[in-house]
Amino acid sequence: MYVHNYDTVIIGSGLAGLCAALEAKNAGTVAVLAKLYPTRCHSTAAQGGIAAALGNEEPDSPEWHFYDTVKGSDFLGDQDAIEVMCEDAIRTVVELEHMGVPFSRIPEGKIAQRRFGGHTREFGAAPVRRACYSADRTGHAIVFALYEQCMLKGVEFFSEFHVLDIVVEEGRCQGVLAMEIKTGKLHAFQAKATLVASGGYGRVFKTTSNALASTGDCLGMLFNRGVPLQDMEFFQFHPTGIYGLGILITEGARGEGGVLRNSRGERFMERYAPTIKDLAPRDMVSRAILTEIKEGRGIDGKDYVYLDLTHVPRKNIEERLPEISSFCKIYLGIDPAEEPIPVLPTAHYAMGGIPTDVDGRVLRDEKGETIEGLYAAGECACVSVHGANRLGCNSLLDTVVFGRRAGRAINKELKGLRQGNIKKEIVNQVFEEIDRLLNSKGKEKIGKIRKQLQQKMMEHCSVFRTEEHLRMLLNELKNIKERYRDIGLKDTSRAFNTELLEAIELGHLITISEVIAESALRRTESRGAHYREDFPKRDDENWLKHTLAFKKNGSIEFAYKPVRITKFQPEERKY
Ligand SMILES: Cc1cc2nc3c(=O)[nH]c(=O)nc-3n(C[C@H](O)[C@H](O)[C@H](O)COP(=O)(O)OP(=O)(O)OC[C@H]3O[C@@H](n4cnc5c(N)ncnc54)[C@H](O)[C@@H]3O)c2cc1C
Repeated sequence: MYVHNYDTVIIGSGLAGLCAALEAKNAGTVAVLAKLYPTRCHSTAAQGGIAAALGNEEPDSPEWHFYDTVKGSDFLGDQDAIEVMCEDAIRTVVELEHMGVPFSRIPEGKIAQRRFGGHTREFGAAPVRRACYSADRTGHAIVFALYEQCMLKGVEFFSEFHVLDIVVEEGRCQGVLAMEIKTGKLHAFQAKATLVASGGYGRVFKTTSNALASTGDCLGMLFNRGVPLQDMEFFQFHPTGIYGLGILITEGARGEGGVLRNSRGERFMERYAPTIKDLAPRDMVSRAILTEIKEGRGIDGKDYVYLDLTHVPRKNIEERLPEISSFCKIYLGIDPAEEPIPVLPTAHYAMGGIPTDVDGRVLRDEKGETIEGLYAAGECACVSVHGANRLGCNSLLDTVVFGRRAGRAINKELKGLRQGNIKKEIVNQVFEEIDRLLNSKGKEKIGKIRKQLQQKMMEHCSVFRTEEHLRMLLNELKNIKERYRDIGLKDTSRAFNTELLEAIELGHLITISEVIAESALRRTESRGAHYREDFPKRDDENWLKHTLAFKKNGSIEFAYKPVRITKFQPEERKY
């Protein structure tokens, strides 16, 4: 057992973690823990861009961005937080540029911008060019620039350290316990401030654009320690995953002029969103695609539609979409400039997560009480700027804006925080759990259970939901939990025991799936990405509120809190 003492410990080297680290380093020592090599975080996979109303290509304003985000969220986003994000977007992108991010340019030298779903001018009049990008490798470009800045500043990285527990005790966060994957040794990181920036959990679904590591471990840990999870019923399906694989084709492809077509060759989004068509928000486009398929207009009667880029100039595809172009060649053997791409919605983004205030402080209840020394930012957090549905390019913005704000809050509050102290009993509990798993001799295999879980989540809890299906899912989850208790591990070694880590991740996937299903069952309305076929209307009278799920006495209990509305009253969501 190794014990480390830091002022700040950050879980996750994605954009949220890196931005927070840069700020927190101004006040003291910082350790960043990541279960992968730091630059292999999922942020590196972000393709299309980061939103900011720079107005480089056409007039734009932060207020329009604010309105679009509120409307995109189906009025569930907290407007004070959304305003903070949109107002800070321009400064953020300029700062990233100064840190060395190689954004794509227009001929006069300014940062280039393209269209993205739900981003409009003049409060919904027409699509606007608001996404700043670095070809279709925007996340990669930003992660590498920030990682370099962190190295320069002396942030310490612990690569391939898998966090096993976040110790919240006596009303405060004491630090974290992690396993060094290379050796299997346990390390305690005691800290004054702990920031969770552990990303999303798309791996609860069978078809997803998310990396293998997006398993939501830290949400599971905190939930088990009594911290609530907010708005978990809202999970975004991106309309254009490669058929059969789920690999993402960025919305930037439609931003560059691509259109969706059904088996009749019809540009069907004209019917669903007459004003902005293929650039409608993702929840609407995903439902439209699946409706086309349900009504028999999938390509060749099958369950996919086409994303057609064949009319987009080849030069634009090569310069602005090289990554997805190569994906199509590698995985499908087609050239998107010549042939349409078969696509189907893919699980993409978690709107829900750990509740925080606008400075990343984790909230313990619906009244807004905080937990001393515990912060969260990025996709694992719910601040909530995305409400019931996130707009494309707003996540990178969220990670950078709120990662930085959390880092700054730590900076200010560090002096008043005591050094964490992780008790021996807690360490022993974790040791025992690892030993139990290593010695487990049950008959069930992790891979099989995970497959069943992902399959059932997809079948019963994806784009369309009903009470009947959600109840079926909850029954399945009971069975899955029983099977999980009877697993057997083949690998009993300590070094690089990926089987052990997968078993731990699976435990968290199951916990999160249960919270998603229970939260979705209770919300008897349709809003954003949560669509209930048995309650197809949005119900502002009863449901204009956030869900908070708590673990209490072994079961899940719920509380609700109002949405913060400062400027834009809920209206019908037409595009
Ligand atoms: C394919 C794809 C394309 C996207 N494109 C865009 C886009 O163009 N624009 C946009 O705005 N958004 C996009 N998104 C969404 C956006 O990229 C993510 O929401 C965002 O990058 C999340 O950043 P993060 O810092 O919160 O976490 P991540 O980048 O996911 O990082 C999580 C970190 O936590 C660590 N971690 C997790 N669990 C543990 C553990 N138990 N122990 C130790 N470490 C742990 C991981 O190792 C990693 O370092 C895209 C997402 C995907 C999947």
